[in-house]
Amino acid sequence: MENIYDVIIIGAGPAGLSSGLYASRAKLNTLILEKDKTGGQIVTTDEVANYPGSIEDATGPAIVARMVQQAEEFGAVRKKDTVLDVDLEGAIKTVKCLNGEYKAKAVIIASGAKPKKIGCPGEVELTGKGVSYCATCDADFFTDFEVFVIGGGDSAVEEAMYLTKFARKVTVVHRRDELRAAKSIQDKAFANEKMDFLWNSTVDEIKGNGIVESIVFKDMKTGETTEFNAPEEDGTFGIFPFIGYEPLSHLFQGKVGMDQGGYIKTDDDMKTDINGVFAAGDIRVKSLRQVITAAADGAIAAVQAERYIDQL
Ligand code: NAP
Repeated sequence: MENIYDVIIIGAGPAGLSSGLYASRAKLNTLILEKDKTGGQIVTTDEVANYPGSIEDATGPAIVARMVQQAEEFGAVRKKDTVLDVDLEGAIKTVKCLNGEYKAKAVIIASGAKPKKIGCPGEVELTGKGVSYCATCDADFFTDFEVFVIGGGDSAVEEAMYLTKFARKVTVVHRRDELRAAKSIQDKAFANEKMDFLWNSTVDEIKGNGIVESIVFKDMKTGETTEFNAPEEDGTFGIFPFIGYEPLSHLFQGKVGMDQGGYIKTDDDMKTDINGVFAAGDIRVKSLRQVITAAADGAIAAVQAERYIDQL
């Protein structure tokens, strides 16, 4: 007979793993599907200092390994497979993958979001080595160093201000001569003595041998390039691109309700507009995208999935 899971969780970051833990602990027959690496964005972080209880050995990979172990101990099954398509209508949902087709009574979408990349040479190679997409996670590493924040929206300016609590100086590099960020946020930023602005500029290249050593800016008006080298006494500096995020939701376009940015809309119980389909973590419309809120979403989604299945 065909195997029908109680719940299929798409994504194995903190939201998916937390869903897996709660669902399997509730004795639901649970499948967690992960694409390539387990853990999502958090595995790129060396120190997760803001997740309650993560004091020792609190690297992203270490926390994820413990989450995986916990979910598996309660019986969650994990499979590496790439989701190609989903059929979410009806009582039995189908998830079509590269290596087969899986069916379940409920689906929890926890496929996350990823920061948009600048796309310049050196960016990928030096991620985690001076380039970071999470100020909350990595600001501490740049205590008394120089930092550049790329972007001019709310995230860039707010994160830049957060970084001034640690860094010696924070320069916001924006491609225009006017910020996109809300006026109230701008006012605070302009009043902050540690903040500086580099206008009409983009990043052409990031250089370094194992650690960020220099950054090349391009003037959007003149086309001229200038290179900033790490101060000799520091040896390095920080680069935080905040040029927007992209939800990994293209598979669900037209199948569940989303906002204009492609984030999935849910209610407080993580329910989407399709019966038996829930969303948790960075993929959904929310105000704070952190490990703790992803884990909380995952727990709520699994408990609600259990209630939904009970009522079938
Ligand atoms: P965003 O509003 O889309 O801003 C992205 C910024 O990056 C823009 O300034 C954009 O420049 C710049 N940019 C985009 N692509 C670029 C590229 N390739 N090279 C250089 N610069 C580039 O993204 P966000 O700041 O992450 O905010 C996302 C959403 O969350 C927004 O709706 C925002 O209002 C909201 N948010 C709200 C708060 C808050 O209310 N406190 C905090 C954070 C985020 P241009 O301006 O020239 O387009």
